[in-house]
Amino acid sequence: MTSTEQPADVVARLRATFRTGRTKPVAWRTTQLNRLRAMLTDQGDELAEALHADLGKSRTEAFRTEIDFTVREIDHTLAHLDDWLRPEPAPVPAHLGADATAWTQYDPLGVVLVIAPWNYPAQLLLAPVVGALAAGNAVVAKPSELAPATSAVLARLIPAYLDTEAVAVVEGGVPETTALLAERFDHIFYTGNGTVGRIVMRAAAEHLTPVTLELGGKSPAFVDRGTDLDVVADRLARGKFLNAGQTCVAPDYVLTDPETAAALEPALARAVQALYGPDPRTCGEYGRIVDERHFDRLTALLDSGRTVVGGDSDRAEKYLGPTVLADVDPASPVMREEIFGPVLPIVTVAGLDEAIDFVNDRDKPLALYVFSTSPQTRSRIAAETSSGGLGYGLPLAHLTVSDLPFGGVGESGMGRYHGRYSLETFSHRKAVLDKPLG
Ligand code: NAD
Repeated sequence: MTSTEQPADVVARLRATFRTGRTKPVAWRTTQLNRLRAMLTDQGDELAEALHADLGKSRTEAFRTEIDFTVREIDHTLAHLDDWLRPEPAPVPAHLGADATAWTQYDPLGVVLVIAPWNYPAQLLLAPVVGALAAGNAVVAKPSELAPATSAVLARLIPAYLDTEAVAVVEGGVPETTALLAERFDHIFYTGNGTVGRIVMRAAAEHLTPVTLELGGKSPAFVDRGTDLDVVADRLARGKFLNAGQTCVAPDYVLTDPETAAALEPALARAVQALYGPDPRTCGEYGRIVDERHFDRLTALLDSGRTVVGGDSDRAEKYLGPTVLADVDPASPVMREEIFGPVLPIVTVAGLDEAIDFVNDRDKPLALYVFSTSPQTRSRIAAETSSGGLGYGLPLAHLTVSDLPFGGVGESGMGRYHGRYSLETFSHRKAVLDKPLG
C-alpha cells in the first residue's frame, strides 16, 4: 500500500489486477513463491531482529519457528504445486454416454485478505500468503499491530520482493482492520482470538465471503499412568515454554491422576532447569510476554495453584518465568480462559473416563495431546473426543507436517491450511462436464 492509499483503494487496485489474469499462470505463482523464499533467506537476520524486539525470541527460535518454517512451507508447495493443480477426473454416469468426461479443477478465488496475530507474527502472516499465492490470488496481508517491529519489516520487505500489483500489506490496528473488513473479499483468512473471529465472520457475511478462522482455546495434555515421566516432562516443557507459552497449540494444562501428578511435578521442575538453566531470564533462549496487558493478565493467574517451579516475574522486562502450578481447582481463574503464556497448571482427575468427560465438558480444543503407551487409552481418546489436531507423545509438532491439515473445530476455529490444504482453502474447486458435440 502506498502512503496515500486507503484500504478501499488497495482492494480496488488488486481486484483490477486479478481481472487481467496476471496472477493465474502457474509461472507467476512460482515466481512469487521463489521471491518470498528469497526474502526470507536474504533478510532472515533482519526479521529475526524484529522478532527479538517484539517478543524477545532468540535467533534460533525465530529461524526455527518462523523463518525456516515458512521456507519449508514454500519448498513443499513448489515441489508439489503442478501435481496438486492437475485436474482430477470424475467417473461419468452411463446416461451421459461413453464419450462424456468430467473433472474438477482449482480456480483462484480473487482478492483474499490474510489477518495475522502477534505471537508468530511472520509465520502466521506468510504461511497463509504462501497458500493464497500458490492458488493464484491477489492478497492483502494485514500483520498484527501488537508486533510492531515485525509488522514494519514485513511492510517494507514484501513490496520489495513481491508483485506490488497483486500483493499489498496494510498495517494498523482496529480502525484499519475494520476499514478492510468493510470491503468485499473473495476469502478472509483470520488467525487470532474468537471474539475478533466473530467480528470477522459478521463482516464477511455482508458479502457472503467465506472465512477461515484459526482460533485458539485450552489445549489439554493427558498424561497416563505408567509413562516415562522424564520424557513426558521434557516434551511438555519444550512445547509449553516455547515463545514463553504464547503458542496457539501449546499444551494449556495437564490432566492426570494424583499419583502421576505427584511424580510429574519434580520431573517438570527438572525439565525446566535442563532447558533454561537456573535463570531463564538470562539464558538467552527464553522469550518475553508481548505487552503489559498480557503480563498483568498472566501474573494474576499465578494464585490459582501451588507453585512447583517459576512464578518469578519482572514487569519492566515483561519477563515471566516458566511456571508450573499444582493442586489447581478446575474452577480457578487459570482454568477459565486460554492461558497463552508460560503457566502450566496440573489438574487431577480420577482416570481416563473423567479425563474424557473433562475435555468434552469444555470447548473443542485446537489440539489435544496424549502421553500414553496404552493402545486402548489412545484409541478411546481419539474416538471419544473432538479437537483440531491430536498429538500422541509430542506437543506442537503435528503442525510441522506439511501434509497434515492445520485448523480448529468448534470454538477453536473453522477451515484448515498448510500444504495442499492451503490450496484447497484459497481456491474454488470447479466442477466441469464435457460432452462432445459431434
Ligand atoms: P491480535 O491481537 O494480534 O489480533 C489478531 C488480528 O486481529 C490483528 O491483526 C488485529 O489487528 C486484528 N484485530 C484485533 N481487534 C480487532 C477488531 N476489533 N476488529 C478487527 N480486527 C481486529 O492477536 P490475538 O487475537 O491476541 O491472538 C491470540 C489468539 O490467537 C489466541 O487465542 C491464540 O490461540 C490464537 N491463535 C491461533 C492460531 C491458530 O493457528 N489457530 C495461531 C496463533 C494464535
